[in-house]
Amino acid sequence: MGGITEEELESSISSSSMGAYRRAPSYDQPQILEWVSELREMSDEAFVVECASRILDSAIMNGYRGNAWGAHARADICHDEAQRRHEKAGHDASCRGDTLYSEGHNKALTSQGHKTNPVSPCTCGLEKSSDD
Ligand SMILES: [Zn+2]
Repeated sequence: MGGITEEELESSISSSSMGAYRRAPSYDQPQILEWVSELREMSDEAFVVECASRILDSAIMNGYRGNAWGAHARADICHDEAQRRHEKAGHDASCRGDTLYSEGHNKALTSQGHKTNPVSPCTCGLEKSSDD
């Protein structure tokens, strides 16, 4: 068992993601903790694929009338992890530019035959636009 603790989870994700985690079935919560520790170790490339897969699962489960919080929590946690990696790469916390989660979202969209979202450029000044 290489999972993180619930306290570690709570201190490292948004309160709305933590709310989704708490609503997930109790049998699923330990699996989420295990999965989060794997998520943190993933390369950026593998993490983007994980985002795409979790975003798609969550979207599919949106129409489910039972408890789909496990799926929603995983997608929300991918969002938080992407933000963590964005800031670790040097972006400001307030930067509105695309993250790895945006890349994963686009991967999920194109897999379903949809167009990708418009590009959101970095707003914190780390990545200078090529038009400058
Ligand atoms: Zn930025």
